[in-house]
Amino acid sequence: MTSDTHERTTLATLSPSRASDFKQCPQMFKFKSIDKIPTEPTIYQARGTTAHLALERLFEKPPEQRTPETLYDLFREAWAELKTTEYPNLFDSVEKERAWGIESLGLLAGYFSIEDPTSFEPEALEMDLTVAIDDMTIRGILDRMERLTELGPDGKEREILVITDYKTGKAPPERYATKAFFALKIYALLIRTLQGSTPERIRLLYLDGPTEYTLDVNDAQLDAMHQQLTALWQAINKAIETDTWPTNTSALCDWCDFKNTVCPAFNTPAEIAKNRAAIDAAAAAGVARPGSDSVSGI
Ligand code: SF4
Repeated sequence: MTSDTHERTTLATLSPSRASDFKQCPQMFKFKSIDKIPTEPTIYQARGTTAHLALERLFEKPPEQRTPETLYDLFREAWAELKTTEYPNLFDSVEKERAWGIESLGLLAGYFSIEDPTSFEPEALEMDLTVAIDDMTIRGILDRMERLTELGPDGKEREILVITDYKTGKAPPERYATKAFFALKIYALLIRTLQGSTPERIRLLYLDGPTEYTLDVNDAQLDAMHQQLTALWQAINKAIETDTWPTNTSALCDWCDFKNTVCPAFNTPAEIAKNRAAIDAAAAAGVARPGSDSVSGI
């Protein structure tokens, strides 16, 4: 993982997912990016990592081979690789691993009802982007980018640049969809900065549902994101400088790795000390690991 800080005095790089963390809760950002508190890998992370790898490899096949069966095989292959390298000991029985695999293949089946992978050719997959914008360095991995042809308002065909992010979880309710586009808008800004052309459409594909959220974006919106990112960068540097990390409790705390262990909003100092010692012991035993800086929507 690229460090988001340098000697804890200034921010060195920032990923869209970590920017999103800080927006949600500065204390959570600190736990992940500064303290790097190890967390136990979950079956949901494992599913996300494996599905992303399988979908990446699906587009390396010729279009006629991009079938559900190919994707299922690619998922099995990817899992065979990742279970030994990234997720050893995730399951304590073959039955649980099999049930997880069957559920995962069910989610992948949903992918084909969102889009037809034989109908287009991605321009890039799993783009590893490190982009300097003003005095900021933003780093992340974008799932996919393609150029699609569609009819413009004048009835003429036109080509648009589209960027896409896969999610293996459930889609948020539509009223919260705008927030979900935060990271993808940053990716659109990175692409514009790097390539000089503006992605006009950003897409979130939620395999669990399945659900597709699409948003058309323009330069004015990306300029606004640039300003927002600059303000976040400055706010994070200020937090580092003053070592001030407020908690921001919300319904999202239920999905936070730290709620029941070290978050001061939910635990006493004595509980935090005890839980932190247990986390460190688990890390030393190789059970937990520092959270990875995945921006692939796992
Ligand atoms: S549980 Fe909530 S308040 Fe605590 S660190 Fe996580 S997101 Fe922040």
